[in-house]
Amino acid sequence: MLRFVNYNIVFQEVPGEVTLAINLSNCPNRCRGCHSPYLQQDIGAILDLEVLAGLLQKYGDAITCVCFMGGDASPCEVEHFALFVRNASEGRIKTGWYSGKEAFPDCCSLRNFDYLKLGPYLEQSGGLGCATTNQRFYHIVDGERIDMTGSFLKKER
Ligand code: SF4
Repeated sequence: MLRFVNYNIVFQEVPGEVTLAINLSNCPNRCRGCHSPYLQQDIGAILDLEVLAGLLQKYGDAITCVCFMGGDASPCEVEHFALFVRNASEGRIKTGWYSGKEAFPDCCSLRNFDYLKLGPYLEQSGGLGCATTNQRFYHIVDGERIDMTGSFLKKER
């Protein structure tokens, strides 16, 4: 069961999109220097289809993307929610996932996401805006990854 701590409408996390970013808790990754250690706790409200439908009803006209921030403890649920967003909006609203894992889970299909960030936070490497980052951000087109990580670096300049 996934829980979310809060959500925000953001403009930089997914380039070119107006994104409803839902911050999921119970992160199983234990990155040293974690930017949000509270997200490692199983806290917040339950995220289910009713809650998600409510968010789409409230913000659906204003956004072009829903991005799930975290959720690595329950990847199948993240994928299920992404599919719900896609179907409920008849494909208008794109779907993204910020995962702290090195690899995309075998149980999920890339085709169910339009955007994907992979990689834990490593203090020595920095986040997406750093030239040395280990993290990667992809646009998914027809199930193939297009690496967009460089667009974050340009924004930092
Ligand atoms: S993936 Fe993000 S929230 Fe989870 S431990 Fe790493 S930095 Fe913290």
